[in-house]
Formats: sequence, C-alpha cells, structure tokens
Amino acid sequence: MKKGIHPEYHKKAVVRCACGNEFIVGSTLPEIRVEVCSKCHPFYTGEQRILDTSGRVEKFKKKYAEYYKKIQQEEEKKS
Ligand SMILES: [Zn+2]
Repeated sequence: MKKGIHPEYHKKAVVRCACGNEFIVGSTLPEIRVEVCSKCHPFYTGEQRILDTSGRVEKFKKKYAEYYKKIQQEEEKKS
C-alpha cells in the first residue's frame, strides 16, 4: 500500500444504534452512530412500522397531493 493516501482503518469500530444495540465493524471511523440497525429496523423485526419522528410522511403526502392535483388539472385542460 502506498503511504499517506490511505485513511486509518479501524478493525474494531463500534457502531452504536439509537435503540441501544452495539456491534463491531471494520471502518475508517473509530465510532459510528446510527438511527436504525438490524435489531430495530422494521424490515428485520417484521413490524409494519414507519419510523416517522418529525411528520415527514405527512409532509410528503401533502406535497404530492398538491402535485398530483396540478397534473390532473393540466391533463383535463389538454383533453
Ligand atoms: Zn437499532
């Protein structure tokens, strides 16, 4: 390996999740913080749960409801 161009590699970097789970990975960072991991992500837990902490889903729905209205109105004009 060429010297001076590779970041330091941590063989035992600790990943800390918001749920309290911790595990070891290899990384160039000594410590990593994550919001979801394989212990608490709905995909792995099998739960039909949406991780929505700040109403982002609602905002998205509102935004696209307006967007689709506009498209529909324009389509009606055309026909
Ligand atoms: Zn987790």
